[in-house]
Amino acid sequence: MNYLDGIFEQHLKNENLGRIYTGHNEHIRRIYLDFNDSLQVQMKNTPSLPKPNLYVTTLSSEFSVFTFKAQGHYFIGISIGTIEALSRFFQFLYSQPYFDPDFGDITKERETALDLSLNPDYLLNYFYNYDLDISPNCLARKTFAIQVFFKAINYLLLHEYAHITHGHLDYLSRGKQNYFYYEKDTINVGNADIEKALEYDADSAATAHSLKDDTLFSMFGALAISEYNLKLNIKELNIAVYFLNKLTELTDIDFEDYAHKSHPISDQRTSTHIDVTSTYFMQRKDHFSFDVNSVIEYGIDVIFKLAALAYSKMFNKEPIDDKLIFFYSKQGLPYLNNVRSKWNTVRNELKSYAYVEIASENELLNGERLFDYEEIIEKKRSRDVDRSGEI
Ligand SMILES: [Zn+2]
Repeated sequence: MNYLDGIFEQHLKNENLGRIYTGHNEHIRRIYLDFNDSLQVQMKNTPSLPKPNLYVTTLSSEFSVFTFKAQGHYFIGISIGTIEALSRFFQFLYSQPYFDPDFGDITKERETALDLSLNPDYLLNYFYNYDLDISPNCLARKTFAIQVFFKAINYLLLHEYAHITHGHLDYLSRGKQNYFYYEKDTINVGNADIEKALEYDADSAATAHSLKDDTLFSMFGALAISEYNLKLNIKELNIAVYFLNKLTELTDIDFEDYAHKSHPISDQRTSTHIDVTSTYFMQRKDHFSFDVNSVIEYGIDVIFKLAALAYSKMFNKEPIDDKLIFFYSKQGLPYLNNVRSKWNTVRNELKSYAYVEIASENELLNGERLFDYEEIIEKKRSRDVDRSGEI
């Protein structure tokens, strides 16, 4: 029995499969409703899309999100631990006065001293186990934090759904009736570039659907949306996606490992999210009564001037990760080209499994901004030395 089959047997088939969580948890009820809405939007024009059951498993402390098929039926699963930890994290974020200081009444908030530089393997587990009260005191900030949390969960589930509708699960299962796909970063020599290509594809779909499924769009149509409301929604989504990527990443991945990792590094995933968002709005710019460029730029500012700075303060790390710089440099390009070329091969096979049209050749990971990585890092180093006054 292989690793994934083992998890399926141990955690799902015998214990939790069929045992949907029925506790009185408002969060879980809302997750079901939100995700169901998202599925309805997607199925409206494509009625043949599969309708997976959503399982909330009682697996508690472990970060686990997965998709699987059993006897040819599709399922998406998420653990209560993931739900609780994400909810707590976003509330923690908005309880910190240095985060988003222009929003709500920060005089009510007090900074929590919390040593997050401990770097547990999965940061999410840290928030699941954290037992202080970390809710924001300002009601507006608390409400916003909960909105961001729901956006994050929905994004996660849409990502899983894309693994089904884009045929990834059927492609990987090679005709087996039962197959389990667990979102856990693994070192996978030989198959890693294919898995990464599928992850980028699922991410792109989750971003596109998060934008498309927006209730503002479906209720009023693009023309009726104010620039202010759209920016607010982009802010929720971008904070959600940035931290989701950061929190679910294994820490301290080095470049050598990247080639063998099943999942892309978090900053590169976020960067892809920005690219897809920009493309999405540029393609629809005539549908809006305002300049979409200002919305795109606002979304980028949310990531770099708000989310990345808060991450840097919380975890005592560089705001712009060296890894992100690397993957936009001459040195990093071959790694991305490997993933892109795998996509170009794999997508032809995927077509026979997919329920929707999938990205065309070279569409994943476009945008090449080339500079010399060593040069940039050297400049950064000398700047840091200047600042510290050692030279
Ligand atoms: Zn995935």
